[in-house]
Amino acid sequence: MRRLILSLTLVVFCTGVAAEQFGVPGGGSRPVTAKSTPKPAPKKPVKKKKKKPAPKQPPAREMFGSVDTPSPLEARAIGSYSKGCLAGGVSLPVNGPDWQVMRLSRNRNWGSPQLIDFLERLSSDARAQDGWPGLLVGDLSQPCGGPMLTGHTSHQVGLDADIWLTAMPDRTLTPEEWEEMIAVTMLKDPLTVDTTIFTDAHVKLIRRAASYPQVARIFVHPAIKRSLCKRAASVGKDRAWLGKVRPWWNHHYHFHVRLACPSGMDGCKNQNPVTGDSGCSGGELDNWDSMLRKSAIWTAQQQIKPETKKPGKKKNVRFRDLPADCKTVLTSGGHEPLALDVELPEAALLAAASKEAGQPIPLLSQAQLQTLLGGGRIGMSMPDRNPIR
Ligand SMILES: [Zn+2]
Repeated sequence: MRRLILSLTLVVFCTGVAAEQFGVPGGGSRPVTAKSTPKPAPKKPVKKKKKKPAPKQPPAREMFGSVDTPSPLEARAIGSYSKGCLAGGVSLPVNGPDWQVMRLSRNRNWGSPQLIDFLERLSSDARAQDGWPGLLVGDLSQPCGGPMLTGHTSHQVGLDADIWLTAMPDRTLTPEEWEEMIAVTMLKDPLTVDTTIFTDAHVKLIRRAASYPQVARIFVHPAIKRSLCKRAASVGKDRAWLGKVRPWWNHHYHFHVRLACPSGMDGCKNQNPVTGDSGCSGGELDNWDSMLRKSAIWTAQQQIKPETKKPGKKKNVRFRDLPADCKTVLTSGGHEPLALDVELPEAALLAAASKEAGQPIPLLSQAQLQTLLGGGRIGMSMPDRNPIR
């Protein structure tokens, strides 16, 4: 029976091809009139099969934010920095010889073994070779990585770390200080670094962090990048490290170190490597300046007359958007996937409610706002601090 259908299909198919060949001008030996051309049968609209709706799940950030222990799997960064998870996470001890972990309540001191090794090495090298007193370490990743309830788009695969630009004090902080201490901003206004706070010691620390081959990128506020470009010469001749230091929003009281995927780690997605250009000339920083101006003006105007229009909401990453292996990571530790509309565990709520780690970006004063609106520049000659702050 099946063979019969197949032969019939072949016949129909071949006939169709033959008819088509005849229809092509000059394509056949027998002239074809319009009358003799068989009318093609009207096409039936193809009904699309309705996909079964996937069972509703809470956003991935709630699922990963609720897991408080790492997965008992071989250590692996899975996926990309902003869409992935971490298998076999390792925690950075909270109180090392040259570092202390801040905001313990967030339980975000987890990373790949390579990240933990790197942080221990950096803190020790920076102290021994550059005289930096020790690192205050901010967020790494959650125990299983993944999206977070608050704060970051990246930090999902255990290869990102935030390091405060405030040096570690010469004593062990109290548990209250770990939670409450606030990192100092390096900015004196939204566009300019305060050079009385951001010193050569900071330049050396960032240069040291960029010097390791496993570091792919370092993110700092654009004003800090500009300052690094100006001051690199004061700490040495080498400028190659500047290329890894990339300007990005918000990194004004901390810098963000991103390691490349460790070699041979399956399923870990690197970003394109940096170009090797220092990024100090060529207009990139000028573009940032104009974006910072717009953002500063918008923020200052919000203080006076808040608009109703809010900036776009962040899109929730859904669990099914993450690499398939992330399901194993989430369930391997015996965690049940979170049900919808269930109240989040206390640990997750605590993490979400933890205190902001750094001072806010200084606001523009009225005079500075007027200067910017008039197309002028602000910076060194303007008052150091916004009096209303
Ligand atoms: Zn970060």
